[in-house]
Amino acid sequence: MKLVAFVAMVSCIIFLGACNALAFEPEVVPANPKLVNLSTDFEQNVYEVTEGVYVAVGYARANPVLIDGPDGLIVIDPAESETAAIIVKAAYNEHLDNIFSKKPVKAIIYTHYHDCHIHGAAVFAGNDSPEIIAHESFAHNLFSPPGAVYSLIWPIKAYRAAKYMGLEFQQDPGYFLNGGIFPFSVPGPSGYLPPTMTVQDKLETNIAGVDLVLMHAPGETSDIILVWLPEKKVLVEIGDFYKSFPAIVTLRGASFRNPLDYIQSIDKMRSLNAEYLVLIHGGKPLIGAENISGTLTNYRDGLQFVHDQTVQNMNKGLTPGEIIEVVKLPPHLANDPYLQEYFGQMDRDIFQIFLQYMGWYTGKSRDLFPMSPNEEAQEMAELAGGVEQLAAKAQEALDKGKLEWALILADDVLLLHPEHAAARAVKNSAMISLAEETYNAQTRNYLLSEYLEETGQVTIPIPDFSKIDDNLVPYMPMDTLFGIMAVGLNASKSLDKNIVVGLHLTDLANTTEPADYTMHLRRGILEVQPQIAYNPEFTLTAECLVWKNVVLGKLDPQEAVSNGDIVVSGADPGELYSLLGFFN
Ligand SMILES: [Zn+2]
Repeated sequence: MKLVAFVAMVSCIIFLGACNALAFEPEVVPANPKLVNLSTDFEQNVYEVTEGVYVAVGYARANPVLIDGPDGLIVIDPAESETAAIIVKAAYNEHLDNIFSKKPVKAIIYTHYHDCHIHGAAVFAGNDSPEIIAHESFAHNLFSPPGAVYSLIWPIKAYRAAKYMGLEFQQDPGYFLNGGIFPFSVPGPSGYLPPTMTVQDKLETNIAGVDLVLMHAPGETSDIILVWLPEKKVLVEIGDFYKSFPAIVTLRGASFRNPLDYIQSIDKMRSLNAEYLVLIHGGKPLIGAENISGTLTNYRDGLQFVHDQTVQNMNKGLTPGEIIEVVKLPPHLANDPYLQEYFGQMDRDIFQIFLQYMGWYTGKSRDLFPMSPNEEAQEMAELAGGVEQLAAKAQEALDKGKLEWALILADDVLLLHPEHAAARAVKNSAMISLAEETYNAQTRNYLLSEYLEETGQVTIPIPDFSKIDDNLVPYMPMDTLFGIMAVGLNASKSLDKNIVVGLHLTDLANTTEPADYTMHLRRGILEVQPQIAYNPEFTLTAECLVWKNVVLGKLDPQEAVSNGDIVVSGADPGELYSLLGFFN
């Protein structure tokens, strides 16, 4: 430990209360100047794009847009949490003479379902009951697997999101710079409101006296809509274009984002000849039709170049690892300020494009037999002449500046000997140096999160489903809920079980969702069918939200039964508890 950091830590312990938190060790991880420079994009400001159109940059993860119409206000993408929305709303009020106290909010538009665009809605809506507008596939995207946020893979996505955004150290300027396309995140409760109006392909409308055209433009997600103000020639957009090489895949994990969709959507944007292009992630708006057209053209060309050349080389039999060696952007695209790898990264996108077209298998016999990391580590140790020699090789790689190899070799040693101090030190140094070198914000934040996590300086738990915000649960479809149940089944514990249970959800009787279900736990799997089977072992009756909260781990089933919120018929309540005991 460096002396300075040690002294800082000791003085923090002695004067506990004077320091908010113990400084990390090391206190500062230097950063790539290119990433440092990017932070200037996110300096706080409320920009007047053109008369009556404003964007608040630098206050939250997203830049909520405000349109001031003759008869009211329109908000586009109300930010990632109620806390974030309160900050942004205050900034607008401060810059625009308390505008929210003078005019009602007539509409809130969600450009797509990602959390940075929806959770502040209630703050902007207040008591105005605005229309909430989104694409017709919005709710499916929000809740249905595989892509959805609030669905089967919520725990791991939330965990990896915290890591790639650097959530655990974003208050520490010695570690955190920005998120590549956003300044930071403002966590807080969800004020999500469900859509009251949806857009199919195109919707031309007038809200608050403002002509609006909403256009479907899939790219990063399949539910993206563009907001076009034809009179003002303003285009508000995110998800097909931002100031970074596009992330066809993210370190958080995401289902496939088809480059061909992006290209088509950007071409739609180009055809509008916008004078102003407002981005909901990133810095100030782009201005001037020629500038916007040139930038968008380069962006779509960059994507097409990478897509086409990846597929061409795939067709020649190259593997993704080989393709990243040969596909390089031509200089006019490589030097474009909007195609720098601040957030997305070309080699990762190439792997993802390959995976999407061809699946996991590279086509080479050597890749037919996936090996466990532990087995590989053992072989590496044997090749090196033993674990100590492998640790020495890791140190050697570090000394030579081969940081990626140092990381892998040290990690191999740690897989075999988790307490190996020298390998631990090499892995730490490699991760810190890689974080220092990169200008990709995702990479820096992920490396530093893992470094702090593994050295015990922060704890980043994988959250369980109970941590899904209560506000979202009522909107979660039953299919998703049963999916969450099924993937939570403890298979080995239930291999000899065969239990059929009826479920009657009283408040679903007059809705589009079935009110009755059969849950069949059958030897390591859970099958759920609508309608109650002829002869279930017992039947549960509850309100939908009660059952959801029990499944998500938000409500203790014994409490629900004793309050009469779940009625068990045909068996002792103990049968319900033992059934639930088979689920994690
Ligand atoms: Zn976003």
